[in-house]
Amino acid sequence: MILGKYSFGTGDRFGCQGEAQLKALLKANRQGVEITPVWNKSNREHNTIHSEPADTRTEADNAVKNLGWEKPYFVDADHISLSNVDRFIRHADFFTLDVAVYIGEKPSAGEVKAFKESCAPLGSRVIIPGIPEAIPLTDQVLEEAAGKYLRAVKEAGRIYRHIEAQKGAGNFITEVSMDEVAAPQTPVDMFFILKIIANEQIPVQTLAPKFSGRFNKGVDYEGNTEQFTREFEQDVLVIDYAVKNFGLPADLKLSVHSGSDKFSIYPAMAAIIRKYDKGLHVKTAGTSWLEEVIGLAVSSEEGLAVAREIYKKALARRDELCAPYADVIDIDTSKLPDPAAVDTWSQKKFADTLRHIPGHPDYNPHFRQLIHVGYKIAAEMGDEYIQLLQKYSTVIGNCVEENIYDRHLKRLFKF
Ligand SMILES: [Zn+2]
Repeated sequence: MILGKYSFGTGDRFGCQGEAQLKALLKANRQGVEITPVWNKSNREHNTIHSEPADTRTEADNAVKNLGWEKPYFVDADHISLSNVDRFIRHADFFTLDVAVYIGEKPSAGEVKAFKESCAPLGSRVIIPGIPEAIPLTDQVLEEAAGKYLRAVKEAGRIYRHIEAQKGAGNFITEVSMDEVAAPQTPVDMFFILKIIANEQIPVQTLAPKFSGRFNKGVDYEGNTEQFTREFEQDVLVIDYAVKNFGLPADLKLSVHSGSDKFSIYPAMAAIIRKYDKGLHVKTAGTSWLEEVIGLAVSSEEGLAVAREIYKKALARRDELCAPYADVIDIDTSKLPDPAAVDTWSQKKFADTLRHIPGHPDYNPHFRQLIHVGYKIAAEMGDEYIQLLQKYSTVIGNCVEENIYDRHLKRLFKF
């Protein structure tokens, strides 16, 4: 299966925005930029919402059918492990094998020896075209790389083969992700990860490393953008080398789990993939949930009341809601507005505070991060929430579409 050069991971908590999301991609298509839609949803999201992988499949199939999309599209079992992949197998055709928790697990002496032997034909150092420093292949460097990544990638191999046994080789896209950890993986780490992936014979098509800097949920990138740019460029070059020398799939590309909106690094990513004529996959699903709340707020007084309620309840339960996302949010509680003040806000003020327009005087990234993790509150509202989404689907759909097209696709794919 071919994912296509550019692909965009979308999705939404309640499975109601599939058409609005696809409309944004259709619009890009009309501008001559082909981008493959992928609807992604993680096991964690399904558990919080009490949805099933079959629901994501239905959302994607319906959107595609209703809008007459004739090109490929995928459903991504996002961040799965061997313990939870089975519920996704029938419904997904894209699997993100999350092996981050295995990083650093000690391999056996035999495993290390086999890895070192596999690297022997590469010589004492590797020069990657475009990267100034050679990668030394000393015993110490190889042992360190094996100590960090050998077990993690072997686990990815186990999950891959488990899926392959049921779906058949070539019938699904494979992503390997290691992004949800504190310590970033450097381009040199990436080199060894790809070597081990090749040894394990995983036909990986997208790879999601942890980049340096913070990828907090719902808000912009925080970190050194120059360092990110250098790292991203070197990752692209390492992948190119690995494809040519390790026999990995020719369409292998980076996957960036954006955690919603990483606008300040989008231009650098866009420039680099154009410079080297490479592909890119970007995942973002939380951004559509936030647009749903914005859409509700601007739809009517009734919608605004529900948006306020989501905020108030999220504020009261912030410890519980933030706990699963501790590594990927950074909320200064002193910057969270008083619920009594929010009660006086207009529809526009609420939307402007939540909407991610960098530099807008009302935009509040702390408020936005809290709402980002607050989707459990909406899930608990049950049918009442879903009915409102349906009642105001036009306004909300426009927000979702505009956000994906204008704020994401235009910045990423430059048109
Ligand atoms: Zn991720």
